[in-house]
Parts: sequence; structure tokens; C-alpha cells
Amino acid sequence: MKRATRLVHAGRDPAAQQGMVNPPVYHASTVLFESLDALEAATRNPFKGVYYGRNGTPVQFAFETAVAEMEGAFGAVTTCSGLAAIVAAVMSVAETGTQLLVTDNVYGPTRNLCEGLLKRLGVETVYFDPTIDAEALAALITPATRAVFLEAPGSLTFEISDVPALAAVAHRHDLTVLADNTWATPLFYNALEHGVDISIHAATKYIVGHADAMLGVINCNEAHYPAVRKSAASMGYCAGPDDIYLGLRGLRTMGQRLPVHEANALALANWLAEQPAVAQVIHPARADHPQHALFQRDFSGSSGLFAIVLEPCERERLAAMLDNLALYGMGFSWGGYESLILPIDPNRSRTATRWDAPGQTLRIHAGLEDIDDLIADLDAGLARLTG
Ligand SMILES: *Cc1c(COP(=O)(O)O)cnc(C)c1O
Repeated sequence: MKRATRLVHAGRDPAAQQGMVNPPVYHASTVLFESLDALEAATRNPFKGVYYGRNGTPVQFAFETAVAEMEGAFGAVTTCSGLAAIVAAVMSVAETGTQLLVTDNVYGPTRNLCEGLLKRLGVETVYFDPTIDAEALAALITPATRAVFLEAPGSLTFEISDVPALAAVAHRHDLTVLADNTWATPLFYNALEHGVDISIHAATKYIVGHADAMLGVINCNEAHYPAVRKSAASMGYCAGPDDIYLGLRGLRTMGQRLPVHEANALALANWLAEQPAVAQVIHPARADHPQHALFQRDFSGSSGLFAIVLEPCERERLAAMLDNLALYGMGFSWGGYESLILPIDPNRSRTATRWDAPGQTLRIHAGLEDIDDLIADLDAGLARLTG
């Protein structure tokens, strides 16, 4: 069955819940056991079925089953945010005295984890150009290297790594391959099929899809699932059942929402490329993207997030453009139904490469509004920009 169909049906068992279409949301800490036998049996298997609120409730099990099925994972692990998913995944492989190889276009807070907590614990991070080839990556691997962390495309600058080639090199050296797959979601990019062992999702974005909950989920292959589950549990990560419910509910419509984000983003990108105030459009699905061939080879679609570079302009004119947009909000996160725009400075969070742009870089999230309205609002904004 196609992915949109599986999104609707995965992880559902109405017969087990009195015929209800959706699973119940139990608010739980204590779970009571009927007998000493039952208590002892549960204690032998604390992650199978209900055991204690922190270990999960039925809505979490349904969510994990559905998300894992989408990416063909052995199992999924839910966390309280996308960043918690990154921390749990990385902490499942990091040990004192070891080294991580991390793509230079990685999400800023992932870099903060590497430069803060991990450095303090004696884990070294080496950053590499996201467009690195397999041979150059192999040259960075030392006996201390444990894992390679990818993010393709990066969520600010949208470079795409050759994930299968890099994963093959990593596996030849017995390294674990982790990837932040938030941009494409399991719908448009199956990271596990491309050689990734641990695929991380900020479910806060498209899976929740309505800008109303924080949630993370990690899809793991069989070899890595136990360590990731243990890592998340030992750090005490658990998401609230209401938020997990919103994630599961969002998942059911993601197959219909994402193609609208995709079409709106592409239409906006193509229109923006024609505007004189815009120096550059950075969208992996456009033929002028430097890694467009990799995008075409590996992805089955693009989501709603892309960037543009403006021609040089005064800050005042930029403010006139951004402050008076009617439909684009300014703020962090993305993946909700609404459009967003954000000035960004990629050089603040990269060390192995430089981001050379003639003017201000703007990140745009295309929401589910009508495309004509989205273009008209930006058209008026660019008119204010160029005065
Ligand atoms: C937002 C984001 C995260 C973190 O997710 P939160 O739920 O906000 O913690 C991780 N990776 C990427 C690429 C993101 O955009």
C-alpha cells in the first residue's frame, strides 16, 4: 500500500478499544498489577505493555507503531521534543574518549549538545562539509570515531548529503549512522532505506502539523533500538499523552497536508526566483539547487521549508518588508499549517564551511493558505523592501 494509505491505517486497533477509531488517552503515572505474578512478569519486561506512566501508555504505543511502520523501522521511541530525540539518540552511541562526525549544516541545538554536554563528558565532535564525498569522510574516521550524524537537507541552508554513500563508508568502519529527517518526514524520505540506522524526527513540525505541541520520535533499526530505548528511558524522557495524541492525529492527515506544503513552497520559490530583489532561491526540488540530482534520486517529495537570499539592502527596508506581512509570521519552528518567514545567519552555527551570501538570507515556511494570497503578500513585502 502507498504511504498516504498507511499513514491512515498504521498502528490502529479499534477492536481493542471498544470500536473507537482512535486510541484512548490515559493520564497515568501508577499502573496497578493484579497479583504478584503479574507484577513480576511486568518487571521482567518493563517496555512491553503498560508498566509505569513514564514507560508509555496505549496512545504512545499506537503512535510508535504507526511511525515505525512509515519508515520500515524495527521500533520507534517517543520523546518530549525533537531536541530530546536528538539527545537520546546521540547519547545511545557517545562514550567518553570517543569522537562523533557531524554535518556542518546540523540543527543549531544539536551543535550546542556537541559543544556543551558532550564536550564536558569527553566526547569530541568533528564537523564536515555536508557535500563531502565518501573518500573524504573516510579520511576523517579514526579509531575513536563512533558515529556519523547527518541532516539532509539541513533546515537552514538545505545542502543534501549523499546519504547512502556516506552510510556505506561509516558502516565499513562499524560506525552508527544517525540522521535528523525532520524536513522530509518519513513520507518523503525513508532514511532507514538509505542506510541510516537511527532516523530522528522533530514531530513538533509536520507530524503534529498544527503548531500546538512539542514532540520527538526516533525510528531505529533492530540493532540500535534497544540502546536508544534505554538511553531515552534512562534520561527520564517521556511525552505527555495529550501531546502524543496530537502527534498521532497529525500523522493521519500528513499524507494530504504535506503535498499542499510542497506545492505552495515550490510555487513561491519559482515566483521568488523571478523577482529582482531576490538574489538566490535555495530549494532542493528546483533544478538550480547544487544537489538537485541527489534530491531527485533519493527523495519522493519536498516539504514546505526553503530559503532565499535577498540582494543587499538596508535593515530598515528589511524591517518594512517583514513587519507588515499579513500572512507570514515571524517565529521559530515550522511544519504547522501557517506560513512563516525568518531572517537567518547560517554562519552563526557552522565551522567547517562558510555560508557566502550577498545579502540577507530568509527562511520561508509555506503553509496551507491559498497560493495566490501567499504570493500577493510577499509581492507587497518586496515592494516595501525595494521602496
Ligand atoms: C525543530 C527542529 C528540531 C527540534 O525539535 P523541537 O521539537 O523543537 O525540539 C530538530 N531538528 C530540526 C531539523 C528541527 O527543525
